[in-house]
Amino acid sequence: MTVNRRDFIRILGAAAATGLAGCAGAPAVHSGAAGDLLPQRARRIVVVGGGFGGTIAAKYARMADPSIEVVLIDRDRSHFSCPFSNLHFIGKRDIGENEFGYSKMASTWGVKTVFGEVSAIDGAARKVILDEGFITYDRLILSPGIDFRFDEIEGYDAKRTPLAMPHAWKAGEQTRLLKKQLDAMENGGTVVMAIPPAPYRCPPGPYERACMIAHYLKTQKPKSKLIVLDGNDQIASKGKLFSAAWETFYKGIIDYRPAHKVAKADAQAMLVDTGVEAIKGQVINLIPSQKAGLIAAAAGVLGDDKRWCPVDPITYESAKVPRIHVIGDAASIAPMPKSGNAANSQGKMCAYNVVQLMNGKEPMLPTMVNVCYSYINPEQAVTISSVYKIGPDGKLTDNKTTKTTANIDPYITKLEAKYGTGWITAILDEMTS
Ligand SMILES: Cc1cc2nc3c(=O)[nH]c(=O)nc-3n(C[C@H](O)[C@H](O)[C@H](O)COP(=O)(O)OP(=O)(O)OC[C@H]3O[C@@H](n4cnc5c(N)ncnc54)[C@H](O)[C@@H]3O)c2cc1C
Repeated sequence: MTVNRRDFIRILGAAAATGLAGCAGAPAVHSGAAGDLLPQRARRIVVVGGGFGGTIAAKYARMADPSIEVVLIDRDRSHFSCPFSNLHFIGKRDIGENEFGYSKMASTWGVKTVFGEVSAIDGAARKVILDEGFITYDRLILSPGIDFRFDEIEGYDAKRTPLAMPHAWKAGEQTRLLKKQLDAMENGGTVVMAIPPAPYRCPPGPYERACMIAHYLKTQKPKSKLIVLDGNDQIASKGKLFSAAWETFYKGIIDYRPAHKVAKADAQAMLVDTGVEAIKGQVINLIPSQKAGLIAAAAGVLGDDKRWCPVDPITYESAKVPRIHVIGDAASIAPMPKSGNAANSQGKMCAYNVVQLMNGKEPMLPTMVNVCYSYINPEQAVTISSVYKIGPDGKLTDNKTTKTTANIDPYITKLEAKYGTGWITAILDEMTS
């Protein structure tokens, strides 16, 4: 079942006519909360966020116990996968191939899908608030991804700056815009890429992007160069592998400057300033610092750092608000990275343990997996894979990590590129079929 704006009005009309919950007698929890959009007739899990974590949590909760109703809410009718969006810059993958919708969530798994912006959460009353009204839950799973800390960069205007200096850190229009700017740039132009300090979404993602942009320049605009301003003291992930790849394939093209955090941006002059020097670029890919998706703050589940959401590493239940579980990029689940593969793993584990709790059973101890493929050119990729377990102190620990060897063996890295293509096909299929 899919609920859209017209259905909301229909449901609201029916609710008003029959005097159902959420009408005159119910206290207003938010100015936009018109009424109960889906009066609850069964035990219910609501999932907010239909990306890498949320789709999987919704689907696996239904598989684990079909007697529990699952409602999946996203602001958009389709989602663009960030994984493999960097390949758009070298023309290996159109960003349209990364877009998926939610029709099979309903038809295959019986998940109810609702499209709208969740503007607040009332944890005490167990209500998710949208403009059109509210939806009640027994347990809530939040997987809202990230938002940006624009305020850390002087001169950054949240609306205008990303149009001039795209971050492309939420895939879709931003990815297309950055590619268009690269295509329009003259041969001989300077591309500047600014990486925020960790933690941010996808630790190796910016360095993979540097490879893709450098490959593009090498093959299409050989007089151009790429200046990488890194807000971290060194490459934040797969350091030896990316250094070796840059040395092997992009010598003289990539100018890497660690410990260079952008403090100021001037979109009109196309200048970024690190406090030490101001650098001009014809194209500037400015990726701001990050925090949990805004709804996490509205739900009251942010930790003391005011950025990420502390959770129990077994059930993902928020340390701040009971019956709200947080997974994916928004959660603090160190040492797991903020990756789509991690969000997928957490989505399954969280769904199972939420169902266990709802059925009065003990939560299961998780074993988590993350594998991350990064392309260094169209045919070769490097990987990092880790297995995580709960340690004797009750915390999640990195049990075993393996990486591609640093000599960029052509046979192995071509195999890894092949596995990567299989991975993206399988994970997107799992989210959409
Ligand atoms: C360039 C790039 C490359 C990457 N490559 C890889 C890779 O190769 N492998 C990998 O594993 N990971 C990769 N990642 C990381 C991956 O994209 C994220 O870790 C993953 O998407 C996190 O999943 P999530 O469910 O937390 O958030 P998302 O997948 O972003 O989903 C969040 C959803 O919540 C919705 N939402 C948020 N707030 C609201 C609200 N208030 N109301 C309604 N809906 C809301 C959004 O619309 C969105 O659909 C990459 C990231 C980038 C930027």
